[in-house]
Amino acid sequence: MKLLINCQKCLSDESIPLSERSKYQNYNESGQYDYTCSKGHVTAGILLNNKFEILFDMGVHAILDGYYREAVVNFTSCLERFYEYAIKIISHSHDVNYQEIDEAWRPIKSQSERQLGAYIFIYFQTFKKVPNTLNQKWTTYRNNVIHKGEITNKKKAMEYGNLILKIIQPVIKDIKLDYTDCIHDYLNYRINLLKDKIEGKTLIYHPNISTIINDLTGPRYNASINLEDEILKFNIQKRLQSDA
Ligand SMILES: [Zn+2]
Repeated sequence: MKLLINCQKCLSDESIPLSERSKYQNYNESGQYDYTCSKGHVTAGILLNNKFEILFDMGVHAILDGYYREAVVNFTSCLERFYEYAIKIISHSHDVNYQEIDEAWRPIKSQSERQLGAYIFIYFQTFKKVPNTLNQKWTTYRNNVIHKGEITNKKKAMEYGNLILKIIQPVIKDIKLDYTDCIHDYLNYRINLLKDKIEGKTLIYHPNISTIINDLTGPRYNASINLEDEILKFNIQKRLQSDA
């Protein structure tokens, strides 16, 4: 799974071969993707997508490639990072800035059980109902795969991925309806954190790839997404990418 970064100066100059004005890059932790084209222009792509969106797609790619344990790891990380995202967005609606929220996050940064507790209660307080989370059966499955080396199969990994989708999608919908401003503030906060580290001369742009879960485009309200359909679409995209 790779991200296409284009030179922002040569982008539409068709006299230059595509391979000299764009490049597929591996995803990274920082969200910043530097690229120097054949003419020496330096572009910095700052990815708009949230980490949980990328992680879910990585899970789907792992399934496509036949790595089912890795798919479960990616889906699990996706859910955990989604909890973090939801906690931060809702906290911001209570008039605290994202820098302060990040400071409050620090003591629970490495403790997923505490993060889950924070998520359940901030969701409960906000939406007056208990959020859907992994039940005991699937928590045990996740732990067995991740911590005990269970070699899982495609059917179980797909079922698990579909479950993660069902947990996240309705909450994205609620958050998008009620906290659009907080979503945009968070995006700007993330962009500015990176922008501060980039030299003034660089050409900066903001790719936003079409992920299965996406807080900017939102869930497809009227369609029930399932992993089987998404995998079919990914197969086509993947073939196109490998031909590029
Ligand atoms: Zn260029």
